Order: sequence, then C-alpha cells, then structure tokens
Amino acid sequence: MTIAIVGAGLGGLALARVLHVNGIDAVVYEREPSRGARGQGGMLDLHSGTGQRALREAGLIDQFHAIARREGQDLRLLEPDGTLLLQEDTPDDAPLERPEVDRADLRNLLLDSLPEHAVRWGHAFEHADHGLLHFADGSSATYDLLVGADGANSRVRALLTDARPAHTGQNVVELCIPDIDRTHPDLATMIGRGNYWVLGDGQSLSAQRNGDGRVRIYLSFHHTAEDWFATSRIPFDDPAAARARLIDLFTGWDPRFTALIAACDDTVLQRPITTLPVGLTWPSRPDVTLLGDAAHLMPPVGQGANMALLDGALLGLALAAHPDDFPAAVKEYEREMFERTSTAGRQSAHVQEILMSPDAGQRMLAFFQPG
Ligand SMILES: Cc1cc2nc3c(=O)[nH]c(=O)nc-3n(C[C@H](O)[C@H](O)[C@H](O)COP(=O)(O)OP(=O)(O)OC[C@H]3O[C@@H](n4cnc5c(N)ncnc54)[C@H](O)[C@@H]3O)c2cc1C
Repeated sequence: MTIAIVGAGLGGLALARVLHVNGIDAVVYEREPSRGARGQGGMLDLHSGTGQRALREAGLIDQFHAIARREGQDLRLLEPDGTLLLQEDTPDDAPLERPEVDRADLRNLLLDSLPEHAVRWGHAFEHADHGLLHFADGSSATYDLLVGADGANSRVRALLTDARPAHTGQNVVELCIPDIDRTHPDLATMIGRGNYWVLGDGQSLSAQRNGDGRVRIYLSFHHTAEDWFATSRIPFDDPAAARARLIDLFTGWDPRFTALIAACDDTVLQRPITTLPVGLTWPSRPDVTLLGDAAHLMPPVGQGANMALLDGALLGLALAAHPDDFPAAVKEYEREMFERTSTAGRQSAHVQEILMSPDAGQRMLAFFQPG
C-alpha cells in the first residue's frame, strides 16, 4: 500500500516520521525545490499536550527540548500609550509547558529524522484521479492513500469538500529587525526574551524574539477588507517608503513602538489572515484525507502548528494500528481530529475576537489573569 503525503510542512513531516518509526514507508511530495528554498517564518510555541505530544510519539522529544527556548515564553502586554499591563518572566526552572522554537529548526529536526529520499522536492501537486497523483511538471505517481498536508490553500482539499478559506478582516504586515542585540540594544531590552504585544483599538503590534537574534514584528490591521493591501497606500515595492507609511498608520502610539518599525530592515511581507469554517467535516473517503491547515485553518493565535503536528502523529498511529485496513484508520483518525480541532478552532476564534475588539488590551489581560 502506497501512502502519498502532499506537503512537507510540520503536519506532513510528523505523519511521515511516525509512520517511519512504526515501520511503514510513505512518500512526501513537496512543491518547494529544496528544504531551504523558502524562509519558514518565525517562532512557534509548542504545547505539552498537543505539539509536544506529537514529538513524543515521533521519538523526537529529547531533540526538541535541546532546541526549545524556555525563555521564549516571556510575555509583555502593553497599551498603545505605553502602559505596561502585564509582564511574565519565565523562571529558569519553569516547566516546558509551551516553549518557543524556531519553525525552521523544528522542520529541520523532522526532515533529518526521515530516510533520505522520503521527501521528493519540486513536486507541486495539481490533481489526482484513479489512484494517480499529477504534478505541475507533468510527472505522476501512484497512491493507495493520499494525505493532503498542503496547508492553507490546499489543492487536495477539493477532493473532499467545497469549503474554502475566507478572509477574517485581519491583515498583517510582517517586518524584521536583524541581530537586534547588536543593532538596537535599547529596543532589544524593551522587547525582552520572548513576546511583546501592544494591543490597540483596530490595530496591534507584536514583536517576537527569534532564536537567531532577529525580532519579527507583526503589525495587524483589524476590520480591514480582503483587498486592503492594495488600497492601504503602503508601497510594498519600496521598503523605506513602506516603513514611513506604516509609521504614519501608527500615529498617536508611543514613539518607542514606532521606533521598532523604523529599526526594521527591508523585509515587508503581506499576510492576509484567512480561516476555514470552525467545525468543518466531510464524508470519509477510504483513499483521501487531510491534516493540518488543509483540514482546519484557524487564526494564527497559537494552535495551528500544534494541531497539525498532532494530526500527523495520530494519523500515523491509526495507520500503524490498522495496517491492513487504511479506510478504518482514516475514519478513526478523522473522528478524533474533527472533535479536537473544532474545539481548538472555537478557542482560537474566541482569542481572535478579543484581539480584534476595541478594548483588546484589557480583555487580554483578563484572559491571562481570570478572576
Ligand atoms: C504569522 C503566523 C504565525 C503563526 N504562529 C503560530 C504559532 O505561534 N503557533 C501555532 O501553533 N501556529 C501558528 N501559526 C499557524 C501555523 O503556521 C500553521 O497552522 C501550521 O504551519 C500548519 O502546518 P501544515 O503542515 O498544515 O501546513 P504548512 O506548514 O503550511 O505546510 C504545507 C506544506 O505544503 C506545501 N504545499 C502547498 N501546496 C502544495 C502543492 N500543491 N504540492 C506540494 N506541496 C505543497 C507547502 O510548500 C508547505 O511546505 C501561525 C501562522 C501564521 C501565518
């Protein structure tokens, strides 16, 4: 039986790894030409009960602990006028409840744990029919079970459901301060070792320290339309002018926050935030299933990667438990996955609603310090 996994993201690789440790071969088809072809983005916090559980099933938890950043759990929460609402500094002996990890390091850990040639780079999936996968370069490959792990804009998803991601009314611009300790030590001290959130009415700024010394800055614009990047008058093709326009858009905020924007390099990325309907399901098919963002794209508030990893691990375990009955394994996996991820989707939508509300700072404070 041939298992084909489309997408070498965290979910697809977790599945391939758990299958491998259980003695089952799978082939991962990835559209990128190589592992380093595209930047993998910033930090992820992996939760002990979900993302870390997946890595335990994958036999990689010790290696994960070696690359995890405990101090990345630090949090500072502020308001646009500079008021500090909350500061949480992680003690050195704190349990690794949700340590941060660089996404590229985590992906490399998974990639290095697979046999050579398990991932076929440069294979962009186009469509599947009669047990054949077809790729953009005209090649094809057979499969008995096809797993769509191809992310938010999954092409495999169309085999199971007509659902498509919808825009949430949030648009994010991602910026970056490289080597902040050396280039801007004052701003480095201000941000600290982990997450720095400034939540305003209709806009927010979050800064996150990465393991390689850079700080990624995410500027969120709430209640904005799908075409907002085109209408925002941010000249994305001219980074210096884009930074100046973004500073304008944060007029009235404490100058320390706009100083963060001014300190950025020429990285200016557009990230429209889209989601699938919470609680999406589909009638089970014996030969196709989905995991990760392809199955349950959520707002980026800390659950997506954790769910993708656990989907991959649990699907791998279900297939290992039913080696002669993949359709039964798929059904078992989907039953648990639908329930677990719809709960996570509802929680994520709730946090997203708080972040987009006019009194986001105070509500987030109450969220972290209930009662
Ligand atoms: C700004 C931002 C911050 C986030 N922060 C967090 C966080 O802190 N914690 C958290 O848990 N989650 C976070 N998330 C969500 C998280 O990134 C995703 O939920 C997670 O990466 C999903 O993993 P995946 O394996 O399903 O998909 P992906 O990681 O997107 O991987 C999909 C893979 O499929 C490949 N692919 C796509 N199409 C094809 C094709 N046609 N053929 C072949 N290959 C294809 C892609 O190249 C990619 O390698 C964040 C998301 C964003 C946008």
